[in-house]
Amino acid sequence: MNSAISACGLTKSFGSVHAVQKVNLEVRRGEIYGFLGCNGAGKTTTIRMLLGLIRPSSGEIAIFGESLRTRRCAALSKIGFLVESAKAYPNLTVRENLEVQRRLTEASKGAVEKSIELLNLKEYADRKSDHLSLGNLQRLALARALVHSPEILILDEPANGLDPAGIIEIRRLLRNLADAGTTIFMSSHILSEVDQLVDRIGIIHRGCLVEELNHDELGKRKRLYIDLSVDQPERAEAILREKLRLNAITRPGERSLRIADAGAKSSEIASVLVKAGIGLDRLLPVDEDLEAHFMRITGEEA
Ligand code: ATP
Repeated sequence: MNSAISACGLTKSFGSVHAVQKVNLEVRRGEIYGFLGCNGAGKTTTIRMLLGLIRPSSGEIAIFGESLRTRRCAALSKIGFLVESAKAYPNLTVRENLEVQRRLTEASKGAVEKSIELLNLKEYADRKSDHLSLGNLQRLALARALVHSPEILILDEPANGLDPAGIIEIRRLLRNLADAGTTIFMSSHILSEVDQLVDRIGIIHRGCLVEELNHDELGKRKRLYIDLSVDQPERAEAILREKLRLNAITRPGERSLRIADAGAKSSEIASVLVKAGIGLDRLLPVDEDLEAHFMRITGEEA
């Protein structure tokens, strides 16, 4: 079974509000899937359906092939999650909060200390959770999600409340977990936050999944052009057209070329020009700003 989470025709309406509409998702075992959308796009509603917290108006969900409708306990036991509503007990310490979670999930005795270590919470282990900073509260929420070493992690905006160093730390932790085989489904409204981490990205807009890309496709899609400075522009252009079959070449300056072909590869361009004895002074791939890509795809103004 290669599919960790699958959703088919997932739909949820609240009265006249169509929050999620016919969303099909396939999250593969061991991948990190970034679920992106603006505020109100339908991310939390989708996640709450995946976690069995609300019932879809229509559509099916399966976790490792187990239907959430007919095999709910088996399906949900494999998931650790972090959602906004899952608050820590304010009067309990970090360690006590994790102990409650350990008992609920019937995890092994050593699981609490292991997750304290994993999330760098040692210093705060005996502090009541209502005395924690926002960032450490978020760390505690992640530690709780991880106590029973779930095969799938579903995270709603996990970077919320974290400072830049904390975001990098969590990113590293999630990458390590995925490398060790955990499947991660995480939402965000900030593309640059997930771009460096995820294997695939799905963009949800007004309840519909409008685009799905893997990491390489995203890289290609956001590429605008490659700028070159060369000593023999005419010859260089002819060589690129002939040898690499590049067509979208313009000449913005006397010694410069601009290549806008989607499949153009910097390494190939450099190699073919240098081999032909062309002096290459500059090669600069220019990417579309990720936020702009997101806005273009969703049709919103930046
Ligand atoms: P955010 O990033 O702001 O959390 P989101 O992408 O998670 O946004 P959702 O919270 O899923 O978006 O909301 C999608 C739409 O459904 C919004 O229009 C929201 O107002 C509406 N909605 C969500 N929950 C309810 C509810 N319980 N009753 C009525 N409308 C709801």
